[in-house]
Formats: sequence, structure tokens, C-alpha cells
Amino acid sequence: MPGNILIIILGLIVYAVYLIISAVVFLIQPIVIITIICGGMLIIYQIYSNLYFNSNDFKNIKDSIKDHTKNCNELNHHIEELKCSYVNIKSYDYGESHLYDNSNYNFKRKEWSKDFKSNLKHNCSATVCKNASTQPFKYLCKYFDIEINEETLSNFESVLNDFAAAEQGKILLQNERDLILNNISNSIPILIYSFSKNKLIKKLGLEAIDLSDLYFPIYTFQYVSPGGNSSSKCDIKLNIENLDKFIKHLHDLVKFRKSIEGQRALMTSNLREIIKIRDNYTCKKCGLSINDEKNLLLEIDHIVPLAKGGITSENNLQTLCWKCNRSKGSKVEARQIIFNMEKGIIDKKKL
Ligand SMILES: [Zn+2]
Repeated sequence: MPGNILIIILGLIVYAVYLIISAVVFLIQPIVIITIICGGMLIIYQIYSNLYFNSNDFKNIKDSIKDHTKNCNELNHHIEELKCSYVNIKSYDYGESHLYDNSNYNFKRKEWSKDFKSNLKHNCSATVCKNASTQPFKYLCKYFDIEINEETLSNFESVLNDFAAAEQGKILLQNERDLILNNISNSIPILIYSFSKNKLIKKLGLEAIDLSDLYFPIYTFQYVSPGGNSSSKCDIKLNIENLDKFIKHLHDLVKFRKSIEGQRALMTSNLREIIKIRDNYTCKKCGLSINDEKNLLLEIDHIVPLAKGGITSENNLQTLCWKCNRSKGSKVEARQIIFNMEKGIIDKKKL
């Protein structure tokens, strides 16, 4: 008799397992089917889009906008060069040395030594860190060796001028790209246009636009306690708004007694706009205006360059389109070298 009970119990267990497996299969089935359908659709779409991008239709469209693409990419390169403008500014060269941390304890202090190499970071006391946050420009000049003189002012002015053009260029370039895409939207299959826009942009040969503002220099004051447990940080980001203010600050400090006119205008956002309005938003060199090209990037140029003693005054400023400004000889060469250095194309030692 006990043998029979055992068989019954065993039978029940087998039946229960069977029920559980059936339930799981029943529940999983739709998910499997849906996954297979979606995966299949995705594969089919990939094949379709690949075929389309290799088709003659697409090649013809690409050819038809070739000039616009080239123009966009050139402007993109120009913007990237403008962003490098800040590299021109060097703080005072005190020579080179190496600092070693020989401590046998307080390993947390290693965090502190990581930042030694960054010349935009200053390790300081908690008080300096706090004060830097209330008087950023004063502490910036003092602790980062920014000399307060006309040369520094001129350098920061050209940085601001280039950064402002880069920021505006980014918007205009994006508009121009949207315009191009809009114009060809009717010739592109709706599926490709809606689902593969990024791939479409890439296949058309339009380079990616870096819209981030990571290129703005950030000066950091940092306090880390000896044990590494307490710390504070103050960042001063030289974006357009802050550069505008910083230049005003420098101007107030540098008293222009040497200047013939006794006064010198500042290259502020406001002045740039005044010059553009005066010049009727037209390039003084080639005559192209925003009426001819809606997304034309206009820049402000010093007729007599700052490097050759030219000053920032309305009669020494003119509006140029980015292409004409770029082709102004030495300026473009200098920028190109810096740009290539940034990208590691040129070996610095050979220069
Ligand atoms: Zn021009």
C-alpha cells in the first residue's frame, strides 16, 4: 500500500511540473512572437535603408546638394578653428619643474596631485576659494597670472570676438543644414526621412556639428583639506556673457593714458551689433549680405589688426563675411596652425 501512495504522489508532482511548464510557455509565447516580428521588421528596414543609401536616386540627391554640403562643412571647420582662439592666451612662463608627493600616509591626497598639471586649476585655501566666488575676476587675474595690460585686453577681446562668432555660427550652420534637409525632404522616402535622419545627414556627407559649449575655458579654484575629507570648488567659466564682463573689468583696470583719443571702445556684444547695423549686415569685402544669404555668418574685423597696433574703435572695425575674414592672410595661417596643433596634426617641435 505505501508503494501506491508513493506512485500517486510522484504522479501529482509530475502533473504539477507539467502545469507550471505549460503556463510559462503560454505566457512567454506572445513575447517570443512579438520579438521575432520586431526583429524581422528591423532587419528588413536595415536592408531597405542600406539599399536606398547605395541607390542612384540617393547619389543624385547627394550630388545635387554637393556645393551646399561643402559650404556647410567648411563653415563647420571655421567654427572649430574659432573655438581654438583661446589657445593664444598664455599666462606668464615661470619655467618648468616637477613636484613629487612623497607622503607615506594620507593616500587620499593623491586626488589632489591629479590636478597639478592643469594650469586652469588652482589649489588654494578654503578662504581663497570662497573669496574667488564673490570676486571672480579679481581672483582670476591674481591667481592665474593674467597681467592687466593692453595686450591682455586685446587678446581677450579677440577671444570674445571669435567665440561670439562661433556661437552664432553654430546656430546659422544648424539653420542652413535644416534648410538643406527641408529642400530635399520631398525626394527622400518618408521612412528614411523620419527614422534614419542622423544616418541620412551622415550619408549626405554633412559633418556632425559640435553644439556643446565645452570649449569655453573654465578656471577652477579648489580647496581640499589635508585629509581629503573636506573640499570646496569654485568654477569661473569664460563664456560669452562672462567674457563680456571680464573685458569691461580689464578695461576699467587698464587706464588708457597712452591712447591718442584718450578713450578706447570695447569689443562687446553691443559694439559688434552696432558695427553690423552700420554696415547694413553686409560684408565690406565681397558685398554679400544676409539679404542674399539668410544664414550668412558675419564677423567683426579690425581693419588695422590689433597685433599691428590697431585699436577697437568704430572707425577701425568692419563687417566681413566669415569667408572673407578667413582669407585675411596671416590670421588664417595662425589659426590653422593652432587648430592643427589641437588636432595633433603638426608636430610642435618642428615649428
Ligand atoms: Zn565677404
